[in-house]
Amino acid sequence: MTEKISETSKNEESASLDFVRELVTEDVRKGRFGGRVQTRFPPEPNGYLHIGHSKAICLDFDVASEFGGVCNLRFDDTNPVKEEQEFVDAQLEDIRWLGFEPANVYYASDYFEQLYDWAVDLIKQGKAYVDELDADQIREYRGTLTEPGRESPYRNRPVEESLDLFARMRAGEFTDGSKVLRAKIDMASGNINLRDPVMYRIRHAHHQRTGDAWCIYPMYDWAHGQSDSIEGVTHSFCTLEYEDHRPLYDWYLAQIGVDLHPQQIEFARLALTYTLLSKRYLRRLVEEGFVDGWDDPRMPTLAALRRRGVPSKAIRDLCNQIGVSKTNSTVDIALLEYYIRQELNLKANRIMGVLDPLKVVITNYPVGHVEEVEAVNNPEDESAGSRVIPFSGELYIERDDFMEDPPRKYFRLSPGNEVRLRWGYFIKCEEVIKDENGEIVELRCTYDPETKGGYAPDGRKVKGTIHWVSAGQALDAEVRLYDRLFNVEDPTDFPAGGDFTDNLNPDSLQLVTAKVEPSAAELTPGVPVQFERKGYFCLDGKHSSPEHLVFNQTIGLRDSWAKIQAK
Ligand code: ATP
Ligand code: MG
Repeated sequence: MTEKISETSKNEESASLDFVRELVTEDVRKGRFGGRVQTRFPPEPNGYLHIGHSKAICLDFDVASEFGGVCNLRFDDTNPVKEEQEFVDAQLEDIRWLGFEPANVYYASDYFEQLYDWAVDLIKQGKAYVDELDADQIREYRGTLTEPGRESPYRNRPVEESLDLFARMRAGEFTDGSKVLRAKIDMASGNINLRDPVMYRIRHAHHQRTGDAWCIYPMYDWAHGQSDSIEGVTHSFCTLEYEDHRPLYDWYLAQIGVDLHPQQIEFARLALTYTLLSKRYLRRLVEEGFVDGWDDPRMPTLAALRRRGVPSKAIRDLCNQIGVSKTNSTVDIALLEYYIRQELNLKANRIMGVLDPLKVVITNYPVGHVEEVEAVNNPEDESAGSRVIPFSGELYIERDDFMEDPPRKYFRLSPGNEVRLRWGYFIKCEEVIKDENGEIVELRCTYDPETKGGYAPDGRKVKGTIHWVSAGQALDAEVRLYDRLFNVEDPTDFPAGGDFTDNLNPDSLQLVTAKVEPSAAELTPGVPVQFERKGYFCLDGKHSSPEHLVFNQTIGLRDSWAKIQAK
């Protein structure tokens, strides 16, 4: 399923390649670009990367490596108003966490001088002009899908005048929005992107890298293809919404007359049910306090998934499985959950954690005595070894592992019934202690000393096995249980007059105080363990300390994907 495409491409089994790899294979075969393949991942540092970006990252890096080429990271830092160094740092960290190392790290802002020179060339060629319409007027003059646009009154101003004004725009003589540089293409074009697109706008804003050196900044379209060409990119992958921009990408490159004219190829974005994948929306969740930062474990950002204990392999597996195509579709979040569980089941050690503790006193156990029992760390991985955990006459078990009046087929603890304590002994419930409100506060049980390790020498069987911790040695831990952040499959679908935040799930975070076995204190933050029978959890890298353990739930044990498959 996650078979390496590299093997197939080497064997030239192009039938099994996706359309992107087919196109690249064909270019290499024909010797286009000298047979070279170079890609780039070009995020704008205006937020944290999310799981949608990982589809682009996997494609960019994997294609380069499959064809023996390089993939660079290029920060598309052309809009200083929304960009920050924090985002630059976070994006690089997230790419590395996902398992990829850029050959080089570049910045579009390093090309500002070259882009400026090329813009001057275009003006000299009569292919760009300084326009003085404001943003609303430009929009109005642009026309619609059914109506051609109108030419700006400044469109045919003398070249000398545009050259002078453009130089003065750069020199800071004009206010934001008072002038723009536009390409002179075709106001009647069927493609609105070709109706004299804006190349530069004035922004008196501090840029995180170029500081105050510039007060005019290039638009995405003017910066992107030229940056690709400067870096030697051969294949420039982007998402489908840029398909209509390709004629402009090509037009710019043709006008400046560079030797390397990269090929733009568009593929479908990743969309996931119950998930918002757009920095614009995610930013609002952060700024308006709906979540506790970009790495709040309920967020779909890579930083959040990492903090929550999601293995990066599960994300790569998802991307490999869904592949790339030309048609937008939405992937069931259950598929991601399936890969997370699959990976954690193999890799995560097991420990005991009781989320809703109920006290158990073993009346025939020597008072004050503590012994050690051996527990296997990971039944799926012998090399993970075993550990010892303390056992005593005072324990906690999960409250819902006891029922006073059990229905048939309830094999856990109930009055007079015997269960196995995982790695421990058989116990039998003899007495139920309640408080004045009738609430069960304690169970009095007896244990069978002959059953250490969980087996009776007389061959007697019990049907239920439950988890537990020894009360005297157990550690308190705050456990954060997570549910989906949104209640609906498509969070952007809300009634007129509403907002996407109306779809937020008010119960997406639940806090409980759990009792965990002592070894929990030594866990590495972000590396999940399975609380036996409860799910996967990891120490929170931000808020956990030895004095106050905080666990994030990575994912429950329930395998909803298996259920979907069974349907
Ligand atoms: P957002 O709307 O979240 O800001 P974006 O496309 O503006 O997304 P960029 O930082 O410009 O974000 O994206 C960098 C690269 O990642 C682009 O090539 C973009 O096409 C790709 N990308 C972004 N979102 C997705 C997605 N959901 N699926 C696949 N690729 C994506
Ligand atoms: Mg963007």
